[in-house]
Amino acid sequence: NYILAIESSCDDTGAAIILDNCILSNVVASQKVHEEYGGVVPELASRAHQQNIVPVVDQALKQAKITKEDLKAVSYTRGPGLMGSLLVGGSFAKSFSQSLDIPLIEVNHMQGHILANFIDDANDVKPTFPFLCLTVSGGHTQIVKINDYLDMEILGETIDDAAGEAFDKAGKILNLPYPAGPIIDKKSKIGDPTKFKFAKPKIDGLNFSFSGFKTSILYFIQKEVKANPNFIEENLDDLCASIQRSIVDILMAKIKQASDETGIKQIAIAGGVSANSEIRARLKEGEEKFGWKAFIPKFEYTTDNAAMIAIVGQLKYERQLFTDLSAKSVAKYHI
Ligand code: ATP
Ligand code: FE
Repeated sequence: NYILAIESSCDDTGAAIILDNCILSNVVASQKVHEEYGGVVPELASRAHQQNIVPVVDQALKQAKITKEDLKAVSYTRGPGLMGSLLVGGSFAKSFSQSLDIPLIEVNHMQGHILANFIDDANDVKPTFPFLCLTVSGGHTQIVKINDYLDMEILGETIDDAAGEAFDKAGKILNLPYPAGPIIDKKSKIGDPTKFKFAKPKIDGLNFSFSGFKTSILYFIQKEVKANPNFIEENLDDLCASIQRSIVDILMAKIKQASDETGIKQIAIAGGVSANSEIRARLKEGEEKFGWKAFIPKFEYTTDNAAMIAIVGQLKYERQLFTDLSAKSVAKYHI
């Protein structure tokens, strides 16, 4: 049963085709227009989705070597995300399913990030239930306990900024273009992660906070630049490595705490920040250090993509969890 999936929650327009846990195509059109604004501009994102969606779906079908008549269902991201972006994918998915007379399946984007771990080629071995997932993305930072495919509990989450935002805002302070996460990752490889120290948040339980951390970077940089206007340029690699080390330390401490408290040793990661090489390496290290089994999805299933919407679409298709055409897109959507 071929299923088409549409992802349009933020600034990436994605379409994918899945057949029995195998992704046959996974096309993403990333929007470059936001770079010069230093962040996603919602109005421009909606317009770009509208331009991209038809060619992206067309390409996904072509790459999968099928035609639209072969499709058995259409899944799409209902939320969370930017309303104008969600509406484009949602309206397209509804019309498409209606015209082909096949079922419509709504998907929670955050469940998609997590369940990407179950795509056939995402991990060699798949997690078994229950497992924990550190979901780290541009808008979310959560520790989730997954009891079953579609049964999840949030054990802790950020009370302010997300981990991806921490990377991007730190990057902005360092005059790096948006999104800064991948650039910081790259520069960190040649920088010294122990050179600079930043204030770590003290937050009880399994929650996170990154806004104080960001402010501490800002004040530190302002002070140093006053003394030496070239401070950032002269120390960029070390600054990136030190910032990345701090963020990864914060994330690792909480997922370790969650594992200790629940006794669950299967740990997965998901979301755009899980593309980060240091977090991937540190999670893997946990196998030796803490007796974990780590699940680190293939790179292309970490940042926004439609393959993750396709795997959830398939799981819901198998359970006949179809969606009414009157379903509303939702900017906030609890998993
Ligand atoms: P959400 O999923 O919460 O709605 P989003 O969909 O906008 O947010 P994702 O696409 O999942 O977010 O992730 C984007 C974020 O991931 C950005 O903040 C980006 O900087 C960050 N990111 C991507 N690659 C890396 C990397 N290698 N290292 C660190 N951060 C990264
Ligand atoms: Fe996302």
